[in-house]
Amino acid sequence: RVRVRFAPSPTGALHIGGVRTALYNYLFARQHGGDLVFRIEDTDSNRFVPGAEEYIIESFRWLGIKFDEGVSFGGNHGPYRQSERRDIYKTYVKQLLDAGKAYIAFDTPEELEAKRKETDNFQYDARTRMQMRNSLTMSKEEVEALIAGGNQYVVRFLIEPGVAVHVDDLIRGDVRIMSDILDDKVLYKSADELPTYHLANIVDDHLMEITHVIRGEEWLPSAPLHVLLYRAFGWEDTMPRFAHLPLLLKPEGKGKLSKRDGDRLGFPVFPLEWHDPKTGEVSSGYRESGYFPEAIVNFLALLGWNPGTEQELFSLDELVPLFDITKCSKAGARFDYQKCIWFNHEYILKKTPEEIAALFAPIVREHVPGETTERITEVTRMMKDRVSFVSELWPLCSFFFEAPSTYDEKTRKKRWKEDSPAQMAELIAVLEGIDDFSMENQERVVEQWIEEKDYKLGNIMNAWRLMLVGEGKGPGMFDISAFLGKEETIKRMKKALE
Ligand code: GLU
Repeated sequence: RVRVRFAPSPTGALHIGGVRTALYNYLFARQHGGDLVFRIEDTDSNRFVPGAEEYIIESFRWLGIKFDEGVSFGGNHGPYRQSERRDIYKTYVKQLLDAGKAYIAFDTPEELEAKRKETDNFQYDARTRMQMRNSLTMSKEEVEALIAGGNQYVVRFLIEPGVAVHVDDLIRGDVRIMSDILDDKVLYKSADELPTYHLANIVDDHLMEITHVIRGEEWLPSAPLHVLLYRAFGWEDTMPRFAHLPLLLKPEGKGKLSKRDGDRLGFPVFPLEWHDPKTGEVSSGYRESGYFPEAIVNFLALLGWNPGTEQELFSLDELVPLFDITKCSKAGARFDYQKCIWFNHEYILKKTPEEIAALFAPIVREHVPGETTERITEVTRMMKDRVSFVSELWPLCSFFFEAPSTYDEKTRKKRWKEDSPAQMAELIAVLEGIDDFSMENQERVVEQWIEEKDYKLGNIMNAWRLMLVGEGKGPGMFDISAFLGKEETIKRMKKALE
């Protein structure tokens, strides 16, 4: 059975790159009838940020990406929060120590720093470990005495030099390195009695029976180390397959997309608005900025993968059978945020007037408390296809609900002609004579009048628009007057002529 996981560290808001990683894991799990596990990797207590875990869970709830197991979802491979698995990790650290595949090191941060200064390109490895203070260079008694004396230590992974390590990556093929370039990574720290990311990650993926590790490219350099850890534990047979996803790049195409790019471009890079509890800083989110979750999912699905056809609009369910992890690009994916706005517009087009009206209604009622759903829906039907965000509707449509209080000067200069007042007074009389104020009927009567008088259609319509709208925008004039109704239309015209 296919089992994949999304394993964020609760260090702050969930970055859009993380959302894409989770989405690809979700699609992969669904298309294989497998499970998606949600694990919290919180072994680095210094970087823990309160509220981050809840934020991440709420983000996926909003996006419609569902997990099968994990923190807040339950399941029988738990606990799913690494800070609750200390004892499990201790057992496995001991296993490596007993097998001579890891060792204890007492070097203090100051000692390591001094060594780094004195040696070019210092790396704690086969070339240097015998010059350091560790259980390979000390007697058993010495080591035990230091531990008993309360000295802090770390456990390091003993990496044999000269070993060819292969990472079989679903996207990148066979990635091969020599173990000599790796250092003896710290696996465990006595100070907080917690393992580091590398050890916890491998132990958990093994115990949670993960079959495929799908994660960001930034973890590719760690993958050989992870392969060696699986080997050291004797878990090679059930080692997961890897897929390292392309980075998200800045819109300009160079460099990794960062949180700061969001601020710089005035564009969200987080699913939800984020209030940083440490700095008090607020970062904007897609949800609060008026994006549809479907649009974000659609946009992200195509950042690093494409179906090989011209089709661009996909629902989450439509993506499941089409997605192909092996067809992800190796090159980074440019974060083209204009495209994200385009997707939102496409979803406005796709949604019914009723759906959009439900979102627009609260905005209208802030201005006109008693406004009916029916009228709001009617305006939405006329206007929604012109916007990318529901929030753009009010400035565009307010005149349907509120008579203009001023008349745009520029439009007036251009469109209000010398004979406009007389013609508009005549038009009022024409309109007063119409009983059936439907769009079709008004259009027929008014156009007949224009023809008889040999007026210029454009001049009439421009002047009339200025009176009803206050400026030169809006849909067809008869749509507007039919919506306003006879009484309101004439009232606005009379007021404009005062
Ligand atoms: N906790 C790691 C992160 O925050 C997970 C990396 C992985 O998927 O192995 O990205």
